Amino acid sequence: MQANSPVYAVIGDPVAHSLSPAMHNRALAACGLPGVYVGFRVTDLPVAVAGIRALGIRGVSVTIPHKVAVMPLLDEIDDTARRIGAVNTISNESGVLKGTNTDGLGALKALETVTAVDGRRVAILGAGGAARAVAWALSNAGAKVALFNRTVPRAAALARQMNLEWGRMDNLARWRAEILVNTTPVGMAPDAGAAPVAAAILDPAMVVMDIVYNPLETTLLAAARRLGCTTVDGVQMLVFQGAAQFERWTGVAAPVTVMRQAVIEALSPTLTHRHGQAAVF
Ligand code: NAP
Repeated sequence: MQANSPVYAVIGDPVAHSLSPAMHNRALAACGLPGVYVGFRVTDLPVAVAGIRALGIRGVSVTIPHKVAVMPLLDEIDDTARRIGAVNTISNESGVLKGTNTDGLGALKALETVTAVDGRRVAILGAGGAARAVAWALSNAGAKVALFNRTVPRAAALARQMNLEWGRMDNLARWRAEILVNTTPVGMAPDAGAAPVAAAILDPAMVVMDIVYNPLETTLLAAARRLGCTTVDGVQMLVFQGAAQFERWTGVAAPVTVMRQAVIEALSPTLTHRHGQAAVF
């Protein structure tokens, strides 16, 4: 490490359990790049953004609760972040702070490791911030997206805004999804026995992705795997959104395999194993 080595950071509140430092530091090391990635718990966001400028922090991940509030504090917001309505990535390009959002791209790249999405029917469970990012990226890539949410008017409102379809949960089976993505927290530890939909609505030809990553194999993904579906876990989205940040900041291809390994190692002390079984890595 040199005095002028680049510094990268995640800002959020809380931030102590963020997996991003483990993932990005491993990626920097694997690529032989100088630099360090640290976590800052931020309660005063305008002062923190002034700090990014003053200290020349090269790249910043933005997490809850600052993803929306940071937008007016930056110099430029790209079209992706504007359409998603949130920034998760800041690049400091010679003092100009540029905001984008890599969450949707992370979900798209995670799915594309197992399937094409163009022209496919995708049902998204949920209508919150993550649903918005995932829906935007998948529909932009040519998927036919429909939103299904516990609070139906919220799905309808988001669908209208984003020019998507929406439906009631009890119509999900009739919508004949080829790809199902859970963007709700249902199934996350400590409530790992829960699933956002009944296994009966799954079909062996479906690709099922869960963005919950603790447990790594959620109850939904376990049911899908038993039925013969192709599955994608939540760590994949986390890694690919981080990979997009890494590439933007460094200009170097992200080492996604080592990044996934770093995340799983960082998660493992807290990883919930459903029904006492070992999680499948
Ligand atoms: P959010 O904005 O609060 O939205 C939560 C959504 O889940 C809402 O649509 C909500 O429905 C629904 N929901 C919550 N509890 C529910 C329940 N018990 N039953 C049915 N639906 C329920 O949250 P978010 O920011 O979108 O995050 C959602 C999840 O995604 C979190 O678990 C987060 O950790 C995870 N995530 C993962 C990644 C990754 O990289 N893997 C990235 C981002 C987020 P209502 O509208 O009815 O309240």
